[in-house]
Amino acid sequence: MNEKTMANQSAQPGDDAHDPPMTLESCLSELRRAEETIAYQQRQLFQLETRYNTLFDSLDEGFCIIEVLFDANGQPRDYRFLKVNGAFEEQTGIRNPLGRTILEAVPDHERYWFEIYGQIALTGEAQRFEQRAAALDRFYDVFAFRIGNPKDAQVAILFKDIAERRRREEALRESEENYRVIVNQSIAGILKVDLQGNIIFSNEQFCRALGYELPELLSLGINDIVYPDDHERNRTAFARLASAGEAYEIEKRLVRKDGEVVWVNNHVSPIFDKEGLVVAATVVSIDISRQKALERQKDEFISIASHELKTPLTSIKVYGEILAGLMDPSVPPPIAQLITKMNVQVNRLVKLIYSLLNTSRIAGGELTLQVEPIDLNLLLEEHVLQGQLTTSKHRIVFDGAELPLVAVDVERLGQVMDNLISNAIKYAPDGGDVIVRAESNGDHVRVSVRDFGVGMPKGVQDKIFDRFYRVKGATTEAVSGIGLGLYICREIIGKHQGTMGVESVLGEGSTFYFELPVYTADS
Ligand code: ADP
Repeated sequence: MNEKTMANQSAQPGDDAHDPPMTLESCLSELRRAEETIAYQQRQLFQLETRYNTLFDSLDEGFCIIEVLFDANGQPRDYRFLKVNGAFEEQTGIRNPLGRTILEAVPDHERYWFEIYGQIALTGEAQRFEQRAAALDRFYDVFAFRIGNPKDAQVAILFKDIAERRRREEALRESEENYRVIVNQSIAGILKVDLQGNIIFSNEQFCRALGYELPELLSLGINDIVYPDDHERNRTAFARLASAGEAYEIEKRLVRKDGEVVWVNNHVSPIFDKEGLVVAATVVSIDISRQKALERQKDEFISIASHELKTPLTSIKVYGEILAGLMDPSVPPPIAQLITKMNVQVNRLVKLIYSLLNTSRIAGGELTLQVEPIDLNLLLEEHVLQGQLTTSKHRIVFDGAELPLVAVDVERLGQVMDNLISNAIKYAPDGGDVIVRAESNGDHVRVSVRDFGVGMPKGVQDKIFDRFYRVKGATTEAVSGIGLGLYICREIIGKHQGTMGVESVLGEGSTFYFELPVYTADS
C-alpha cells in the first residue's frame, strides 16, 4: 500500500483538509444542474405521456382507466373514470365521463360490472370477456387489467362494442338453422359429393331412404350405393359434371343397406370455387320406386292388352280385305263405301296395336333386328312414294345422294320413315313441301325429314321422344295420335347404333333427323 492510498483511507467525510471549500458559486451551479436534469426528465415524461395518449386516442377501441370504489364492507359498488380515450364516447354513448362515476352517468348499469372490476382490482388478475351492457344497449368485448399501486384500485380497460357483430352472427345462426331445418325436413334426399365420389354430406331423409346411419353413409362412396348395372351411366354423367361443370338429371337404382333396390330421380349440380373450378356436387334425390312400380304395371297391362287384341283384330282385318275383294259393280254403293271406310279404320287400329306391341317389346328388351347392308336411297324413295299416296295437300320431295352402305333392319327402318313422314304431314295441316334428304356425313349416313308446319317450342324438343308425350296445344289435340311414334323411332335407331334428334322453330316447321353408322365388313 502506498502513501497516497493510506492518506485517502484515513480521510473522513467533511475533512476540510482534502475537500475543496463549498462556495456559493459551486452551490448554485449544482442546483442549476439538478434543475436541468429535472426539466429534462419532465420533458421525457411529457413526451412519453403524449405518445401514449396519441396511441390510445388513435385506437378505434374504447380505453379508460377507472378507480374501483368499494363500500364500507369492502364490496365494489361503483367506479370512477380517471382517464378515457377519444373512442370512449362513441363506444359507450357516455359524454364527459372524466371525474364522474359510472352510476352517475348510467344509474342502471348492471352490478356485475363492479364485481368483475372489483375482483381485478383486488387480485391483479387480468380478464378478457364478452358481456352485455343492457343499460347502454351494447355488448362489449373487454380486456381489463390492474395498473399502478394495488391500493389505488385502478383498472385499465380496453373494450369494443360488438353488438353489431353479434347481431350478424345471430342472423347467420338463424339462417343456418333455417337451412338445416329445411334440408332435414325435405322429402328429397340431399347430398354433397366430392369429385372422387365420396359422400361428404347427407340429410336425414337420404339416410332414412337408404337405411344407413349418417356416419356409415359418410364413410361410403357413391359407387357403394349405386346399383351395379347403373354404374357406367352414372360415371359418364358425373365425369362430364366434374370436367365441364354440366348439371344433369338421372334416373337410376340405389341399393339400400338391407339390399333392397330403390329407384331414384337425381338432380346433380356442380359446386364451383371462387376461381370457377368444380370442387364438388350437390344431389337432390327423389324416390320414384312407386312411380316405377306403376309404370311396370302399365307396361304389363299394355303388353297383355295389345297381345290379346292383336289376334281378333288380325282376323277382322283379313275379313275386311276379303269383303273388299268380293266387291263388284253389283254391290250397292253405300255398302261398298262402308266397307272401304271400315277397312281404313281397321288399318288405323292395327297400326295402333302394333305401336303398343312395339312399346311393350322395347320395355321388355325384346326388340330384335334383322340387319342387312343396303343402299338407303331405294328404301327412302319407296316410303316417300307411299307417303305421297296419303296426301294431296303436301308435296313430298326426295333429295337423295350417293351413299355408302348401312346395315339396317328394312322393316324397322321403314317403320321409322313412315312415322316421320306421316308426322310431317299431320303436323303441317295447311300442306306444303316435305323434304326427305339423305346425305353421307363422314362415317355416318344422315337422313332428315323436313316440314314447314306448326313446329314446336325449344322446351319440349327433348321430351317428344318420351313415351306418351304429346306437345300440348290445339294443333296437336286436333291431330290423332298417342305419343308413341317418336319413342319407338328413337329406340329403333338406337338399336342400329344411331342417334336421332330434332331441330324445330315454333310456327316455322321441324326437321327430324337420324344418323346411322356406315357399314364395314367387321361392323
Ligand atoms: P303422336 O304423333 O302420335 O302424338 P309422336 O311420338 O309421333 O306421337 O310425336 C310426339 C309429339 O311430338 C306429337 O304429339 C307432336 O306434338 C310432336 N311432333 C311430332 N312430329 C312433329 C312435327 N313434324 N312437327 C311438330 N310437332 C311434331
